[in-house]
Amino acid sequence: MIVRENPARIREVVGRVAETDPGAAVRRAEAAGREWSARAPADRIDALRRSAAAVQARAGELAVLLARETGKPLADCRGELAFALAHLRWVCDHAPRVLGERLLDDEAGRLLIRRKPYGVVVCITPWNAPVILAMLKLAPALAAGNTCVIKPSPLAPLAVSEVAAALPGVEVVHGGAAAGQALVGHPLVRKVAFTGGDAAGRQIAAAAGAMLTPTVLELGGNDPALLLPDFSLTGQDYERLVMASFATSGQVCMAAKRLYVPRARAGEFTAAYVAAAERILLVGDPLTPGVTMGPVISAQAAERIRALVPGTAMPLGRSTGDLGAGYFVPPVLVPDLPDDAPLVTQEQFGPAVPLLLYDTVDEAVARANHSELGLAASVWSADEDRAFAVADRLEAGFVFVNTHNRTGMSLRAPFGGVKRSGHGREYGEEGLLEYVQSTVVHAPAAFRPGGPGLAATAYPLP
Ligand code: NAD
Repeated sequence: MIVRENPARIREVVGRVAETDPGAAVRRAEAAGREWSARAPADRIDALRRSAAAVQARAGELAVLLARETGKPLADCRGELAFALAHLRWVCDHAPRVLGERLLDDEAGRLLIRRKPYGVVVCITPWNAPVILAMLKLAPALAAGNTCVIKPSPLAPLAVSEVAAALPGVEVVHGGAAAGQALVGHPLVRKVAFTGGDAAGRQIAAAAGAMLTPTVLELGGNDPALLLPDFSLTGQDYERLVMASFATSGQVCMAAKRLYVPRARAGEFTAAYVAAAERILLVGDPLTPGVTMGPVISAQAAERIRALVPGTAMPLGRSTGDLGAGYFVPPVLVPDLPDDAPLVTQEQFGPAVPLLLYDTVDEAVARANHSELGLAASVWSADEDRAFAVADRLEAGFVFVNTHNRTGMSLRAPFGGVKRSGHGREYGEEGLLEYVQSTVVHAPAAFRPGGPGLAATAYPLP
């Protein structure tokens, strides 16, 4: 039995889930797939739209459950459910066009290209945005005719299980790394979609590789936010930059994790940033109105983050309520760190952000790129063209301009990392195409009755 406590009030149990047999779930998904994949695509889309309506009807109650199990402010949890449903509807709107078959029948012959589902897709997801990160896999996979087995994180298994239960063709497995490994290594599994950390990502890639099962891996980031020398930020812009680092207590893959600021403007930047944090950052219980930052997910996470923060850290924001009741870590800005400090080189995944000063843009770009990770980044400038030119030099899968983190996302924009932040994409048309394989039927015109023919050893005509 997995027991989940409220990270803001550790003594409060939010819910319990029973561990599940991974093999039995895969077999059920495989059996269900025969009927689901044979349905007309429009029938599948209709069923998914009905699921969206069913989850929508319960969104208020599910947002409270999500807030209590993750420690994320209630408004964020409402937003997460709404965005997950928006993504599901986007998939319903676009899948028929993107995944439709193509028939070419002309003087070169007849060529039919179909987008076929893989079969059983295993989805393994983390706790920081459990509903969205599940939906990014389930919606396109189901629309394409796959069935799914999802294994959520044991740290946030409750709300996502309710959402998954409303979708057709989904089995939920509860458990930790061993359950995940059993799923990835199962011979009936045809694709694995994983979001999570580097260590689990390597083990999943190895287990999938041993089975020759293809993967989508959405791993960690150490995202730089690069303020160009001409940056021009209003108070609201500064608040957005603060939340780019501290939303979900910094526990977001694409959070702004390193701030690069021109040395000549360091004093002005620091004063405006601290003032903005004072206005926008209120730390407290996620269900308290006005709170914008809750606790971190666990005692281990709190300990790991505190160990990264030196004594020179500047405290940020305000707080309310009893922070001793949960896994709270105060938000800080950390100036004067060398580039090899652990808070700079590692993904902190918590509410502490280093302020790094630079002298030239070339130097800033080189230091921003000096990482094995390349998930997202941002460029802040008064000149959009200049920002786009610098964005092109950053090694990242997604570069935001004049914003960073969730405010810069778009349902139509493919998201995913370069370098060791993973491979494959979620969102947009690329996100749909991850869950189909192209299959072809081809009758070359040369061999039709009365056709010109071709020597048995020849290459086809171009
Ligand atoms: P995690 O890697 O510890 O766990 C993620 C999931 O994998 C959980 O369900 C866990 O039970 C399972 N798991 C762990 N070890 C496994 C193994 N060996 N085999 C199979 N399954 C295993 O990650 P987390 O702590 O839950 O999440 C934090 C990490 O996720 C951060 O590094 C963050 O950057 C990353 N993340 C990435 C994205 C993205 O889109 N790229 C989004 C959110 C989070």
